[in-house]
Amino acid sequence: MTLASLSDVSVSRGGRPILRDVSLSLPAGEILAVVGPNGAGKSTLVGAFAGDLPVTAGTVTVDGRPVDQWRPRELALRRSVLPQHTAVAFPFTVEQVIEMGRAPWARTPLAAEDEQAVAEAMALTEMTDFAGRTFSTLSGGERARAALARVLAQRTPILLLDEPTAALDLRHQDLVLTAAANRAATGCAVLAVLHDLNLAAAYADQVAVVADGRVRACGPPSTVLTSELLTEVYHREVEVMAHPRSGTPLVLPVR
Ligand code: ADP
Ligand code: MG
Repeated sequence: MTLASLSDVSVSRGGRPILRDVSLSLPAGEILAVVGPNGAGKSTLVGAFAGDLPVTAGTVTVDGRPVDQWRPRELALRRSVLPQHTAVAFPFTVEQVIEMGRAPWARTPLAAEDEQAVAEAMALTEMTDFAGRTFSTLSGGERARAALARVLAQRTPILLLDEPTAALDLRHQDLVLTAAANRAATGCAVLAVLHDLNLAAAYADQVAVVADGRVRACGPPSTVLTSELLTEVYHREVEVMAHPRSGTPLVLPVR
């Protein structure tokens, strides 16, 4: 079952076409990794799925309806968005930031889960000990985990994560993608923009390679992550081999 989709979507920003004829779907139970060079249009694609950016052509659906037909709060109950950068202007604590993820559920029966959802999200991201800290005093990686905890606390069926692992150490990269995989296992649809192609290969059910505003390939990691395509889109010689034990593609720049 598809929880969100882009059909022939084009998006312009600042009067320039950025995404061109992009079609992608987010099936329940799967992680879609979006990879590609800087400036390819990955964050723009996240903004289109989220309903945060207007499209110049094509259709975006969330939960079976055109995204612009949902009221903001109804949309926030269905999809959560981890932006590439999270700015918190006021001196909120980590716990307060994470609680913001529960705002859409106010005055619904599921507001009863607020406390549990916040506690679970903090535990999943190992932020429990930071609950009382002021967000702006956190390190980059800690901020990224707190921002992700807010998204997890929102408990939506669709998760749109823009570079959730970019600031994280090796342990927390796996922690975060394991949390994403567990959400997928419960029937959620997860989109994660990733720069680390080996993380994409290890965790994604499908990988979409985006370059120059287009989807160049989309499919299982082993069919999409080829040295030919990656060398072309990154303008850098890349080799791909199978991991000797798992068989997962191992992607390495040729050095
Ligand atoms: P990615 O996330 O893949 O690095 P983005 O989606 O952020 O790429 O950006 C794609 C292209 O759109 C880039 O060339 C970027 O400079 C341009 N762009 C992004 N936002 C704007 C904007 N608000 N106005 C004009 N151009 C923009
Ligand atoms: Mg980006």
